[in-house]
Amino acid sequence: MLAGHLLDGTGVSPQADVAIQIAGGRIESIESAGASSMDRDSHVVDLRGWWVLPGLIDAHMHLWGLTPGEVVPADFETRLANAREQARALLHAGFTTVRDLGSPISPWIRDSSSTNPPTAPRILAAHVGLTGARGPWLIPQPSWWEARVVRGVASARDAVRRLHDEGVDVVKIGASTGPGAQGFGDIPTLTVGEIRAVCEAAHGLGLPVAAHAIGSEAVRRCVVGGVDTIEHGYGLSDDVCDLVAASDAWIVPTLRTRAVRAAAEAQVTAWEQVKTLRLGVAAGIRYAAGTDSVGDADTLHGPGNALEMELMGRVLLPDAALAAGTREAARMLGVVGETGTLEVGKCADLIAVPRDPRRDLSVLQQVEFVMSRGCVVRNDASAADS
Ligand SMILES: [Zn+2]
Repeated sequence: MLAGHLLDGTGVSPQADVAIQIAGGRIESIESAGASSMDRDSHVVDLRGWWVLPGLIDAHMHLWGLTPGEVVPADFETRLANAREQARALLHAGFTTVRDLGSPISPWIRDSSSTNPPTAPRILAAHVGLTGARGPWLIPQPSWWEARVVRGVASARDAVRRLHDEGVDVVKIGASTGPGAQGFGDIPTLTVGEIRAVCEAAHGLGLPVAAHAIGSEAVRRCVVGGVDTIEHGYGLSDDVCDLVAASDAWIVPTLRTRAVRAAAEAQVTAWEQVKTLRLGVAAGIRYAAGTDSVGDADTLHGPGNALEMELMGRVLLPDAALAAGTREAARMLGVVGETGTLEVGKCADLIAVPRDPRRDLSVLQQVEFVMSRGCVVRNDASAADS
């Protein structure tokens, strides 16, 4: 492959005119195009007019298989078909890895999608979430969500073991309410003891824990309890930002899903999210990009998921916003040995965009070439070229 500009995601300056050799789904060599000893018989993808960068990661999304506009969930077969199409749309938009933090469908998509050629991103699936009594997601109507209530330490441990048996990649907990009727949704719903029991059981089984947590008290409990990633994580005091920054926890601020909704509650929340993000960046918190998109009319899965990096770029420096959706997300998800940067030995998960994304993060919504695990799954770039 010939790349006009390579942003390998490691943090070094872009390189111009680069030859990338790919074999067996992995990057075999990266060198200057002039010096390249690239096999003349090999198939060459010509991206000399493009910027090549690592495949994108959405570290918090939901494959619910919604039919946009529907009020009551469709039957499982329809949802499965919808979710399959949404996964394909994400891959074609440049998302080569996603973490689904709550959907009974995502493990099915993960396990039944082709990897050669890929028909879905690499999926890390939480399956159903765990929450305390009166926690989030427990609503008295048919739901796209499913959640299980834990009551006390023993119940929390049992719930984690069951999820492990069911093959999850990550345990999702709901440590606070909302958002919604109860302001920002910042009422804690699990005790420190319950959170610690979940984390100890999960870590003992090799699973990380992701916590839906809004507001200082819920986030404080999560950090003390030992969660790995805090989802949403807004409405925080300076002290709690310092506590998170001093811990091993990451925050996934999930900006897209509120920013794109017109409702007053969503807009107030979006404002609060940006305010907290500023505090957190100043405190030194580590961030990764995740949209909380659910595939409804406002948050269709596809190019729009890359809006997250543009929104993060209103607070973070462009390089940091880009890293949040590539290298940093891969580090947070424990897959940085495989993806998130373009380096020799890693999976060939890469995309191409027509302009320098550091100057204009919106170009991440205009991905024209996608390679996933060494397979070309989309190539509008060469088509435009020839
Ligand atoms: Zn979510």
